[in-house]
Amino acid sequence: MALPNRLRRLLLGSDPRLARMLGYWAATCLLYFIGAALLILQVRAGAADHDSAVLLIGIGATGVAVFAVLVRASIVMGIAPSTLAAWQALFAIACNIGAYVVTGPLRGVYLIFLLVVLVFCTFSLRPRHTMLLCAYTLGILGATMVWLVATYPATYPAYVEGVHFASAACALISVTLLTGEMSKLRLRLKQQKEDLLAAMATIRKLATVDELTSLANRRHMNEVLVAQERRIDPAGQPTCLALIDLDFFKSVNDRYGHAAGDAVLRAFSAAARSELRAQDVLARWGGEEFLLLLPATTMTQAILVVERMAERVAAAPVAEISGGMRITFSAGLAQRHDREPFADTINRADKALYNAKSTGRNRISLG
Ligand code: GH3
Ligand code: MG
Ligand code: MG
Repeated sequence: MALPNRLRRLLLGSDPRLARMLGYWAATCLLYFIGAALLILQVRAGAADHDSAVLLIGIGATGVAVFAVLVRASIVMGIAPSTLAAWQALFAIACNIGAYVVTGPLRGVYLIFLLVVLVFCTFSLRPRHTMLLCAYTLGILGATMVWLVATYPATYPAYVEGVHFASAACALISVTLLTGEMSKLRLRLKQQKEDLLAAMATIRKLATVDELTSLANRRHMNEVLVAQERRIDPAGQPTCLALIDLDFFKSVNDRYGHAAGDAVLRAFSAAARSELRAQDVLARWGGEEFLLLLPATTMTQAILVVERMAERVAAAPVAEISGGMRITFSAGLAQRHDREPFADTINRADKALYNAKSTGRNRISLG
């Protein structure tokens, strides 16, 4: 792995959720930086106390660093993203209220930062928790303002603090309610997306899988054959096709009923499939007829595969016809000529199948 990649992985991890959380952390980091810069400007202008500002900036920087470590280690430590978001929010709110106390006449700026903290929370917290956080913020802010008015009435006039509190309460409550609605909307969209993905998976399955046997259906097999035709095989590997038809299947239906016939089709499919490799494709071609594609297989190997399949199918137990007949099939086998269209190979396999049927069934004929 290249060094930049390794470093990136070390810092950001490989989980996309972690990368997103670290992204949020980086954004909050920028906000702390802006908040600290504003505080320094206030100190320079003589409007804020130097020592208190330095102490607050130090607390903020330490918190930011601690949260970076906690976010990075949250998965290993098993800390839920919502818990971490709540801790970060509580700390940010405390820092902002601290900055409000330390800053002079321009302290109202930090009330805007409180709003930003609440908006951030909507990404990770449930609406109920954001509401609790809003109540906590207003509680601490109100208590702080009462203390400021009582202790330093000249610097913090009651009417100014009252206006500040009323505006902060209006803005924080409105934002909490609005973001709550947004959260609900996001949850609904997420649910819709999940439903849509599930529906797409069902449609994809219905379009490619035969419902009764769970084998590939004819449509999917045709797609597989078209894809094979397009492929240029540099090694010139042989490909074989077998058209398989169950023998006397109509009499299974007649003697044991249609449901028993269905059970035989399922038993044949399961038994036949168990003899195949991952790259082989067995499809229900129609009724009780199946098409088997054997890529990279010579005719000799294909005969062995189909023979093994016949043995396995004949031994397959089917409760619905127990004590009755064994499942046998006839197969027409053909090897694809170089770049021959599969339709022609299937035609040859079909003729061979006809031959297998007319010469007694339960056998393989070569086309
Ligand atoms: P052969 O040995 O010549 O192939 O005779 P067969 O009886 O197998 O062939 P035939 O074409 O006379 O009959 C095929 C039967 O397969 C007729 C049809 O009702 C039955 N069949 C087709 N699809 C299904 C199905 O999905 N379920 C059931 N139970 N029967 C089916
Ligand atoms: Mg048949
Ligand atoms: Mg048939």
